[in-house]
Amino acid sequence: MPPINAKPLHKVIMVGSGGVGKSALTLQFMYDEFVEDYEPTKADSYRKNTVLQGNECQIDILDTAGQEDYAAIRDNYFRSGEGFLCIFSITERESFLATQDFRDQILRVKGADSATDNVPFILVGNKSDISNRRQVPYEEAQALARQWRVDYVETSAKTRDNVDKIYYDLLQKIHNKF
Ligand code: GDP
Repeated sequence: MPPINAKPLHKVIMVGSGGVGKSALTLQFMYDEFVEDYEPTKADSYRKNTVLQGNECQIDILDTAGQEDYAAIRDNYFRSGEGFLCIFSITERESFLATQDFRDQILRVKGADSATDNVPFILVGNKSDISNRRQVPYEEAQALARQWRVDYVETSAKTRDNVDKIYYDLLQKIHNKF
């Protein structure tokens, strides 16, 4: 049994292709800095105290490295997650196409029918600061999110634009399930 005063802990999983900015977003949220060259070889997890609607809670962020060689390990990560930030880079079309696989894997592991909306999930188009190199139109990403019945948000881990928003919005969605 946890102590009575233990803060609720919410587990968030970062998913997406390599190089889209999962670590940069996480490190910006955690430490308010843009880390240019972060090269993890495996998943890393981070914890931060925060306040949600006046109540203290903890957010636990698992930054997956995309090198989860064994499907069983990946599935365990997904099973343990309460909410998911599915990241692509607006400058890399392939990373956008890859989001469909992540979405499918998560729903399969969670045993969720894609027609139900019960997995807290946000589609995130990162690197909005270099939209001059955009390969994925905003409307197209928005349309995919609408089809999945999730929100679509564009972020920049570099300028911090919408970084807090994606974590807090996701926490709110997790919280609303209780
Ligand atoms: P990950 O493999 O998904 O964790 O991606 P990283 O966080 O390691 O980022 C990959 C590269 O993209 C690094 O060189 C980052 O500095 C860069 N990057 C990440 N986010 C942004 C962003 O929002 N804007 C720009 N301009 N570069 C970014």
